[in-house]
Amino acid sequence: MSEMSVADEAERYLQVLADPRCRPAPRECLACFVARMLPDFGCDTTLRWAQRFRDVRSPTATGLERRLGSVGGYCDCEILLNGYRLARHLLVRDLATDELEAPAEPPTCAGVGRTSTRPCVNWERRSRHDTW
Ligand SMILES: [Zn+2]
Ligand SMILES: [Zn+2]
Repeated sequence: MSEMSVADEAERYLQVLADPRCRPAPRECLACFVARMLPDFGCDTTLRWAQRFRDVRSPTATGLERRLGSVGGYCDCEILLNGYRLARHLLVRDLATDELEAPAEPPTCAGVGRTSTRPCVNWERRSRHDTW
């Protein structure tokens, strides 16, 4: 496979941004948006989806990167690996392992205020030491 040039990469990114699925829905929260983007578009080791969410929904939330960093989210996938997990009431029991797991279909976002950058009630902090 040949390497993509920087121009190709930029071109592809512009196509992604033009894709209507890549816009946060009016009441969709940051965590649900990022969780929706990652399976299709992946993490590029930056906070591009979180920042896109911010740019569209809450441009004045300039402290977003710092706040996400404070919960271990230094890139989009880390927000979900280190910062937030699906709330317990949304998990389903795997009958084979008897463990609670994330459902195959991501739950519909419970909704947040129009300019909020907080996760909706579908998410809970992974750490008990919640400074958020
Ligand atoms: Zn990542
Ligand atoms: Zn949500």
